Amino acid sequence: MNRPLKTPPLAAYDPHYDPLVSDGPGCNRDYAPTYWLATAGAPPEDDGPITRDVDTDVAIVGSGFTGLACATFLAREHGVKPLVLEANRVAWGCSTRNGGQGQNASGRLTRSQWIERWGLDVAKRLHAEICDGFDTFEDMIRQSPVDCEPQRGGHLYIAHRKRNFEKIAAEANVLTDVFGEPTRVIGADELRRDYLNEAEAVGAVLEPRGTGVHPAKLAFGYQQMARAAGAKIHPGSPVTEIEQHGSVFHLHTPGGTVKARAVGIATGAYTAPGLTPLLRGRCMPILSNSIVTRPLTPAELDATGFRTKLVLTDTRTLRFYYRLLPDNRVQIGSRSSITGADADHPRHLQLLIDGLHRKFPALHGIEIEYSWWGWVDVSHDMMPRIFQSERANGLVYALGYGGNGVSYSAQAGRRMAQMIVGQQFKGQDLPTFTSPLPTHAFSSFRRIGQRLLYRWYQLRDEAA
Ligand SMILES: Cc1cc2nc3c(=O)[nH]c(=O)nc-3n(C[C@H](O)[C@H](O)[C@H](O)COP(=O)(O)OP(=O)(O)OC[C@H]3O[C@@H](n4cnc5c(N)ncnc54)[C@H](O)[C@@H]3O)c2cc1C
Repeated sequence: MNRPLKTPPLAAYDPHYDPLVSDGPGCNRDYAPTYWLATAGAPPEDDGPITRDVDTDVAIVGSGFTGLACATFLAREHGVKPLVLEANRVAWGCSTRNGGQGQNASGRLTRSQWIERWGLDVAKRLHAEICDGFDTFEDMIRQSPVDCEPQRGGHLYIAHRKRNFEKIAAEANVLTDVFGEPTRVIGADELRRDYLNEAEAVGAVLEPRGTGVHPAKLAFGYQQMARAAGAKIHPGSPVTEIEQHGSVFHLHTPGGTVKARAVGIATGAYTAPGLTPLLRGRCMPILSNSIVTRPLTPAELDATGFRTKLVLTDTRTLRFYYRLLPDNRVQIGSRSSITGADADHPRHLQLLIDGLHRKFPALHGIEIEYSWWGWVDVSHDMMPRIFQSERANGLVYALGYGGNGVSYSAQAGRRMAQMIVGQQFKGQDLPTFTSPLPTHAFSSFRRIGQRLLYRWYQLRDEAA
């Protein structure tokens, strides 16, 4: 039965939202106050909230990079016109809040850790899949009708201590010699001369694949590509529950029930425990905070020695990710707060400001014009999954990128589309496609451990 309902009003952004203590990301909430959304221009058209019961072949839950990429590939390459259901505004989650660093990675493990975990053959094939994913990401950037201001040339991994330099230099050799990825070790003098004058840097590694993007512009580009291909995108339509009735899934939203023969879940760290029992406790939502300065003056550019616009990260366990943006502002982010309730405490902002000052003393006192945060989906074994459950045949999820999803989410969306239509692909037997996200016996107590770990990481990271 069709029951036309009223469009929900736009609700205010909630800075204290916390996926572990909330029963969902809300309904039709406004965007986080990011630099990206302030400079992306007006959001493109969408198809408005669900206002009646609807039947469809495929429903995608979540309209971040993953959901929108999946919808684009389904419509373009498989002739399926999916419905994308988004709780809030389009790409409201991580995809409009991140650092925009597209790296040749997914998950948090190094290539050496892949070899330890799965052996050389699987590690090499996983590397091929991630590289193919980077190409998919670059293709999406090139095809995007919105220019997302790509900053290409690689990822510069900057050592903040000598012991860390030795470690990343050894890993660079593995990347070059074992995986054939020409990775360069750069000494402190060359770094200062050719890249930037970062006060605490002792050396760096240049990974050849890495592209910085304006993430909100890219998300808006994905949105336009998905709709142009025939997908419908419905913001303000949170799925409160997914029920399976035989071969049909019923996705309940406040405006009506969507009945679908297949479902793709792309809800990132914003996945509510009640959405489906298949995902309960399988990801740990972790907060990441970010700031953007005002544009640097010519004198400040000179003093900081910025000669590069490459994407940058440092070697802290609670690493800083940063770069000089096209308009000469500096963006820098890291992890500090643990709960949503505490996310706007000034000490988390101060941690980023202190980090900026330590790296670039000349920026002491520079105005911070934007500050925001968002939730990252970290899986319990630090690797993502794009997985089709036998328990709910027809339901596929793509989650767990661990803060490394800007590039790989394009490929994850592509793979999710292939799995939904039953198309085989190279590498489908890799563990990221054949095993579910692991659960954790003590997942509800992990925040206690996280607090202690953060303290320990901070002491270890700053030790001389
Ligand atoms: C501050 C920050 C910095 C980051 N920096 C980087 C970086 O520099 N490089 C990098 O690679 N990665 C980074 N990441 C991670 C990266 O942004 C994500 O991995 C990437 O955007 C993938 O997003 P996604 O589409 O899977 O999820 P998201 O973009 O989070 O989208 C999920 C969407 O699902 C919606 N949703 C949830 N539940 C429901 C429901 N029940 N019904 C309907 N809709 C629902 C949410 O509202 C949300 O819009 C960062 C993340 C944060 C928060």
